[in-house]
Amino acid sequence: MSDLAAFVAGLPKAELHVHHVGSASPETVAELAARHPEGPVPADVDALRDYFAFRDFAHFIEVYLSVVDLVRTPEDVRLLTYAVAQEMATTQQVRYAELTCTPYTSVRPDEPGRGMPVEAYTEALEDARAAAERDHGIVLRWIYDIPGEAGLPAAEATLDYALRHAPDALVGFGLGGPEIGVPRPQFKPYFDRARAAGLRSVPHAGETTGPQTVWDALRDLGAERIGHGTSAAQDPDLLAHLATHRVPLEVCPTSNLATGAVAALDEHPIRAFVDAGVTVTVNSDDPPMFGTTLNHEYEVAARLLDLDRGGLRDLALASVDASFAPADVRARLHREIAAYDG
Ligand SMILES: [Zn+2]
Repeated sequence: MSDLAAFVAGLPKAELHVHHVGSASPETVAELAARHPEGPVPADVDALRDYFAFRDFAHFIEVYLSVVDLVRTPEDVRLLTYAVAQEMATTQQVRYAELTCTPYTSVRPDEPGRGMPVEAYTEALEDARAAAERDHGIVLRWIYDIPGEAGLPAAEATLDYALRHAPDALVGFGLGGPEIGVPRPQFKPYFDRARAAGLRSVPHAGETTGPQTVWDALRDLGAERIGHGTSAAQDPDLLAHLATHRVPLEVCPTSNLATGAVAALDEHPIRAFVDAGVTVTVNSDDPPMFGTTLNHEYEVAARLLDLDRGGLRDLALASVDASFAPADVRARLHREIAAYDG
């Protein structure tokens, strides 16, 4: 391991863009596939590596949803959530994470008899959060996101879960899934109501579509951070807007490469974002599915941005500052990162 990789591995971190089901390790996915063997997902860790080789973004969504389909009982939610938190805390030195959860795909109101009651889902999340914090010191918060491919019924249901069945640690409201054919403005009424209830707006935008989607997310959804925002680099006015209004981007370099959002890591616009004065946070998105880790994403960022140890510390601090963490957690992480010397 290089000096810089060793420094990254020990660096205390916050992670802001990481999906609940998408963070399941191959071991966890294999265990869930063994519990529910009738689907297409292999219950074998080696076979899962081939299964996670994506042809394009549409294929990624298809594979992702097949794994989502394995999370069927509150016990599945507990297993998954605790394992994800444990992995983040013990192998990536993540002290605080905002985990994006998609309750709609586990509650399944569209298929009566298939999913679990939202109350059971919420309770399982919160049980796992408490256990992970107790055992590993990691502080978790939740972002509930609308699966864009399921349209307005999913938006309505997700809003209901967020307003009437909110887990204690819910902080944000998001929007994921495909962007092509899923215009952002239609979700405005749902984001308006979530924001009025105090939830922070954190939609994905500009990952597979142009900068207009990012403008839509800002203007119609009141976005306070942008998931990916990759195509913002094509629009100097948008970059200036993001910089002036201090809207951070949640950048996930390897994810963008794996889904074809960028053709090569060296073509990733992260450098253009930083040069334009936009706040960049580095995240892992769906790390096992993309064959990456948060540590690896920091190494990629260090290479693309020519960061030394001080630059890496600043990068870690940027995520803390862009987070919705409680003040005491932010202060503690600030002290810990500033004092970290590898
Ligand atoms: Zn994402």
